[in-house]
Amino acid sequence: MANYKTIYKCRDCGCTSYQPVIGRAQSGALLPTGQYKCTGCRNVFDTIREWWEPRRNVEFQPSRFSNA
Ligand SMILES: [Zn+2]
Repeated sequence: MANYKTIYKCRDCGCTSYQPVIGRAQSGALLPTGQYKCTGCRNVFDTIREWWEPRRNVEFQPSRFSNA
């Protein structure tokens, strides 16, 4: 299976390559599902952007860290 080298890195493990996720269609053929899998941490992503883009922490509350 081909690996795709990119200028981007996995946001989780820092790996610089990913693989298309292959699934079996109803016909029995193996087809890309449109998702991607990191070759490092094996996480599956719906888009390349999701793979490299830093995860947004929606629960992040800056006020908690302003008391230093
Ligand atoms: Zn990874």
